[in-house]
Amino acid sequence: MIKANDPYRKSWIEVTSHSDFPIQNIPFGICKTSDKTIYVGSRIGDYTINLNALHKLNYFNEISLDRDIFNKETLNDFLKLGKPIWRQVRDRIAEIFDSNNVMDESHKTVVLSKIDEVEMLMPVKVGDYTDFYSSRQHAYNIGCMFRDPNNALLPNWLHIPVGYHGRASSIILSGTNIYRPKGQKLPDDSDSPSFGPSKLLDFELEMAFITGQGKNLGETISTQEADDYIFGMCIFNDWSARDIQKWEYVPLGPFLGKSFASSISPWIVTLDALEPFRVAGEIQKPKVLPYLKFEGNKNIDINLEVLLGSYNFDPHLISKSNYKYMYWNMTQQLAHHTINGCNINAGDMMASGTISGNSPEAYGSMLELSWKGSKPIPMPDGSERKFLNDNDTLIMRAYCQSKI
Ligand code: MN
Repeated sequence: MIKANDPYRKSWIEVTSHSDFPIQNIPFGICKTSDKTIYVGSRIGDYTINLNALHKLNYFNEISLDRDIFNKETLNDFLKLGKPIWRQVRDRIAEIFDSNNVMDESHKTVVLSKIDEVEMLMPVKVGDYTDFYSSRQHAYNIGCMFRDPNNALLPNWLHIPVGYHGRASSIILSGTNIYRPKGQKLPDDSDSPSFGPSKLLDFELEMAFITGQGKNLGETISTQEADDYIFGMCIFNDWSARDIQKWEYVPLGPFLGKSFASSISPWIVTLDALEPFRVAGEIQKPKVLPYLKFEGNKNIDINLEVLLGSYNFDPHLISKSNYKYMYWNMTQQLAHHTINGCNINAGDMMASGTISGNSPEAYGSMLELSWKGSKPIPMPDGSERKFLNDNDTLIMRAYCQSKI
């Protein structure tokens, strides 16, 4: 039992019943306060916790940690320490803030900040970024639209967690404005490409996992070992310019239609915190090759929502999906990624691919929700969307719900 996951634990910090940050969560991120102090932080309710201040006040003395491990502008050094240390730190935070304990008022002043007085920064310096394509419904939908509904999945899809290497430099924090990308497109009625702003700007609802330090080049990580190398997860929006993508992707895959921006959430929720929400995935048929076999429940029940807002209407729900719909799970993705001896490093990011559920309300992109533009989506102000307009705002939410 991971101590911090005790579902009955309450904190002495007030937490409302609908908060995404009960004491069972204890995510990790990088915080900046108004006096420009930057620290590795966590969050309970509407307060951030300055882990560097806690460490300086000797709250982590029982754990083998460098003095400056939380005095950092990214989580990368902490990610190098590995799962036993990540778990000890999270368990200790749960203990410190447990309602059975008290904290000195003078300590509270330096450790806690109200969330609205804190700026969240990029949590990780992403070394390498990979995007998978692991939702069967998404792959099927794309196959139906662009190829043949009778052979929607390509022959490799049920055997390989298909993925491609993406661009790490343009992974940005949620809230950062993005610019409509320009590029080459092939107009439907033309044999030669034109250049200009993308007219088919889209989002992709994804989750990503962040790795700890992997093994040496030439070594592999098995499905049994994979969870030990995964620190946690964030929400991931793989912004996509469909018209640019369509013209450029043959034969080497996505490029400039993707690399202009991908947005992530500021808090990384640990895999440990997600353990209580494990569920079985779809039974994989045909049988996978031995290196992709796994044991236990490896999917996770994470509710996902996408809301679209604009300057004249509030964010409005356009998709409701769930991370449990993934066909290939994270242990298979990581085992596949390293099966050729490719090494992974602390701070690598691996995104799931668009997560679409079986029903049309659960599709994870405008491309699918509007079925390639053929079914426009009505908006609260009477307008409709096939793809994203200038000044639109997109919100993605992810949450787990305890049955207690
Ligand atoms: Mn994607």
